[in-house]
Amino acid sequence: MSLVVVGSIALDTIHTPHGKREKVLGGSCVYFALAASFFTKPKIVGIVGEDFPNQYLELLKERKIDLEGLKIASGKTFFWEGKYDENPDFRETIKIELNVFSQFSPVLPEKYKESDFVFLANIDPDLQFNVLNQIRKPKLVALDSMNWWIEHKLDSLLKVIKKIDILFVNEEEAKMLTQRANIIKAGKELIKLGPSLIILKKGTHGALIFEKDHIFVFPAHPVEDVMDPTGAGDTFAGGFMGFLDKKGKVNLSLICKALIYGSVLASFVVEDFSVNKLLILTHKEIKKRFKEFKKLISY
Ligand code: AMP
Repeated sequence: MSLVVVGSIALDTIHTPHGKREKVLGGSCVYFALAASFFTKPKIVGIVGEDFPNQYLELLKERKIDLEGLKIASGKTFFWEGKYDENPDFRETIKIELNVFSQFSPVLPEKYKESDFVFLANIDPDLQFNVLNQIRKPKLVALDSMNWWIEHKLDSLLKVIKKIDILFVNEEEAKMLTQRANIIKAGKELIKLGPSLIILKKGTHGALIFEKDHIFVFPAHPVEDVMDPTGAGDTFAGGFMGFLDKKGKVNLSLICKALIYGSVLASFVVEDFSVNKLLILTHKEIKKRFKEFKKLISY
């Protein structure tokens, strides 16, 4: 099978109670692709500026991530700065500089157009729509977004949500999108927007999963020391979609397994700053935590 992801490739400055890191590798696309690379060979659609360090490109290549759809443009790379307090579920965005993103109009390489699994990571919804339209016959399309786009481009976002199968959304975004204060009502409203599955992320508390006539709860793997929560959502999605792409089909039992892999990968990424943990993680460690997680959810 083949998995394509479009999203931000960023330089992040991150403040957490454990310290500060400046201009480190980040972006929704990067976290997603690194997590998915444990299962498959993801293809990236994105843009960076000339300031993007070569060593970061090498890291992605080493993980067998396909960079044919990555454009290096004149200008500066997308920059995001965020701050967390003691509660890792809350963060403040201090600064966003769109830079090369403001001029990005992706044209997919021919081989990308045959992709079966598509992840539209957090990025301008017009770009998400543009990329989706270039894929001929996707089997499964998932999307993630954030409050920034709900506030600034709601119509575009709703247009693309109509065309997808799975929506990843957090509690605040779900409430903003549906204007519902109750999370169950919000989830049920989201299903009406088009997707057949809503994965409503609740940070350290796991996720609520909504199907048309069915809701189930899914815990997060417990982590005692969260160093840096950045990218947990994208890493979760990367583990989830990467596993499904490897299997090449989608059914409820595989979705449950994919959720566990997503949760396991997310529990690793927050143990260090930026993508550091994903770069040293082994399949053995993932398998071990997968087994621990299964014990955790069997009563
Ligand atoms: P997450 O913690 O999973 O929401 O993802 C964090 C990543 O999203 C960071 O590495 C940022 O570079 C990236 N990011 C933050 N804001 C935006 C935005 N408005 N558009 C695209 N990517 C963003």
